[in-house]
Amino acid sequence: MHASTKVRKYCCVKCGTPFEIHPPDDFHRKASRIEKECEQSVKAEYKCEKCGHNNTIYWCRIRRHPEWYA
Ligand SMILES: [Zn+2]
Repeated sequence: MHASTKVRKYCCVKCGTPFEIHPPDDFHRKASRIEKECEQSVKAEYKCEKCGHNNTIYWCRIRRHPEWYA
């Protein structure tokens, strides 16, 4: 199992409760709250368990040059 190594930790923007998110696939592994940070992204929403706020995270598509994301 290798999935746990890709976990990203974010906090709810409303109440600060931490939550873990997982990349949707091997091509979208960089997470961001800002859509403009990536040319291609997958939008995902994570509902806070505590307050019910929907936290929007964008998964950026990783390019072929790994050094750009080192
Ligand atoms: Zn919350």
